[in-house]
Amino acid sequence: MGTCLLCDTNESAGGYLCLACTKATVVRLECLPDLYDGLLPFLAPSAAVSQGRSGKGGPAPLPVRAEILDLRGPGGMVGVVEDHLSAVCQERSMRKRIPAGSIEARLTAAVSGLLANMPWIAVSWSEAGTFAAEIRDLTKSVRSIIAPEPAVDRGRRIGSCPAMDPSGTLCGAVLWLPPGAKALRCEWCDTRYPPYVWGQLKTWMTEDEKARSVA
Ligand SMILES: [Zn+2]
Ligand SMILES: [Zn+2]
Repeated sequence: MGTCLLCDTNESAGGYLCLACTKATVVRLECLPDLYDGLLPFLAPSAAVSQGRSGKGGPAPLPVRAEILDLRGPGGMVGVVEDHLSAVCQERSMRKRIPAGSIEARLTAAVSGLLANMPWIAVSWSEAGTFAAEIRDLTKSVRSIIAPEPAVDRGRRIGSCPAMDPSGTLCGAVLWLPPGAKALRCEWCDTRYPPYVWGQLKTWMTEDEKARSVA
């Protein structure tokens, strides 16, 4: 009878992982293909996500996020899972499969290989603790990208701020109306737009847009 190598609290019932951690690891493994897919929309953030003012016209396109590219690449999520599976195969003197196909296909195959070995891993693999911790950290880091908590609702996008600074430069920052808010305030230049000027605001914005398309 020992303690679980992952949580360090529960009885491992003669093996290396407790029942709760074994189940949690199974669930984490099962989630990996979905998490992999879920990263795709975050690879190249859309222009709509960028904030603040822009120089001329639209905001500059944001670069592809390197950490997401790495996670989705051959050495990322799939690499972690395949490495553990080949370690299991070696330990159990099982024939190793040669990874083939797309990264998605390789990830799914390696995940099901590990799931099939989970009962053995929990009871007989001395590396079970390291393995389970790495799978936990992997899902955690991917989740933090997909669903950073708490997600802040910025509210409704109203348009570009039509305020002019003393030198006559148009502010142009995106105006957001926070949920339930009664007053509109530019986060960039701090100009406030009370509800009674919102009608006028719309007109200003349309005029600015026309002026910009002519320029
Ligand atoms: Zn445990
Ligand atoms: Zn402004």
